[in-house]
Amino acid sequence: MRKYQILILFPILLLLTDCVKSKADAGVPDSVLSLLLVSSLLNSDSGPCTAIESIQPNYIGAWSPNGNVYQFTEIHPVTLNRNRPMVQVVLENTDYAFGGLFPFWYLDRNNYYSGFLNRDLASYIGYNTHTSMLPYAKDTTYATDPAVSISNTREFSQPLGVDFNFEFPFDVKATFINSCREMDNDEVNFQTSDALSSMSGLNQAWAKEKTLDVNLIFVNGSNGSSYPIQSEQAIEVALNKWRENFSQSSVRIKINVSVTSADLYDYDMIFDLGTDTGYPGSLGGLFKTTSFIGKPNALNVFIVKEELQYGGVLGVSGGIPGPATLLGTRQSGVAVFVDSHRLYSNSGDVLTYDEQLLLGETLSHEAGHFLGLWHVTEANGDYGFIADKDPLRDTPTCHFSNDINLDSIVDLSECLGGSGTNSGGKNMMFWSGTVGFTQGDITAEQGWILRLNPLVY
Ligand SMILES: [Zn+2]
Repeated sequence: MRKYQILILFPILLLLTDCVKSKADAGVPDSVLSLLLVSSLLNSDSGPCTAIESIQPNYIGAWSPNGNVYQFTEIHPVTLNRNRPMVQVVLENTDYAFGGLFPFWYLDRNNYYSGFLNRDLASYIGYNTHTSMLPYAKDTTYATDPAVSISNTREFSQPLGVDFNFEFPFDVKATFINSCREMDNDEVNFQTSDALSSMSGLNQAWAKEKTLDVNLIFVNGSNGSSYPIQSEQAIEVALNKWRENFSQSSVRIKINVSVTSADLYDYDMIFDLGTDTGYPGSLGGLFKTTSFIGKPNALNVFIVKEELQYGGVLGVSGGIPGPATLLGTRQSGVAVFVDSHRLYSNSGDVLTYDEQLLLGETLSHEAGHFLGLWHVTEANGDYGFIADKDPLRDTPTCHFSNDINLDSIVDLSECLGGSGTNSGGKNMMFWSGTVGFTQGDITAEQGWILRLNPLVY
């Protein structure tokens, strides 16, 4: 019963030591961005505030960071300050031009040698679609390679930048999603600290309660319905577990749920949990073809009967992060699989109380991914590399030496140590879960990332 993230399946491909990226001339004016859409509610409390800019990039050269040839664009400016505290980039290619693509960030957009890898690229280069964000952590030195320092709490932005790299640039698109909700004072002043005990990071109390709107979509088709009763009340135990997790003082986000049902005949069973393509039966296809039922300012959660690629996957997020407020991309949503949550009940029946609690943990976990959180430790354990764990200082990690049964995986039972060896098994973002076990720990820094997401207001 794993809730592992499908995005982690690709190996590390890009090493900065291979960075022989030589480019012609810099000096890109800030006005180079063509503004297609800006939706801004200014800091009202009625919904998210985002500025969205989509561009079709121009290519100015090529390089081979991992043996494959990538076309790269000029460097585009990125703004991060206390009024624009978080930015996501979404790269999209057509389904059939199958190839790698990634953003490459710059600490100083006027200096090609200031490039760095973000947490997402430390583990994975996207195929046909990829998301990234800044910041991934309050202390960004933990999130990048090489370690750089990024502040989003000042009045003015550092001269950050990003360029876009495509193996087969054909009809490609890059989209910036910038949050325009000013940070609260305690979010500006928040400081992280190292995880030293089982209680690390759990004592934070944010002053203001925020809100996340959630659009729950029960998916039905020829395989039957995803759940016998399709209402908020029918899965109230699960939703209340999610609400309880997110209402903790280290998070303080109210979950505001609306429920709908949809007949989606290609997606009542998911055969392919990838988002590389939008083909029927794939997760990417589900997210890509359902903008008619999605809500742009909400987290769209698809409740699906089962997945058939692995069997037993509890849920998947379209991305880390998922593209906030953007519908109709291959990464626009999360999916949870009802039948993977069954231990006692039969397919087609309502879930038992304990099974619903696990569903609540899965909803919390996948929402965490969509809003920008990584697993505290990936399944192979912490060897000290960026890709082994989340980029946060205050979350516990599970060292590979905890793998007592030597199966090369750090199981839940192997990551429950106390102070010093406490290893994150009880954290919401542990990589696996099981019926009857609570994983509600959310640290202050995890809460800080969740609260800054453009969808949270
Ligand atoms: Zn996960």
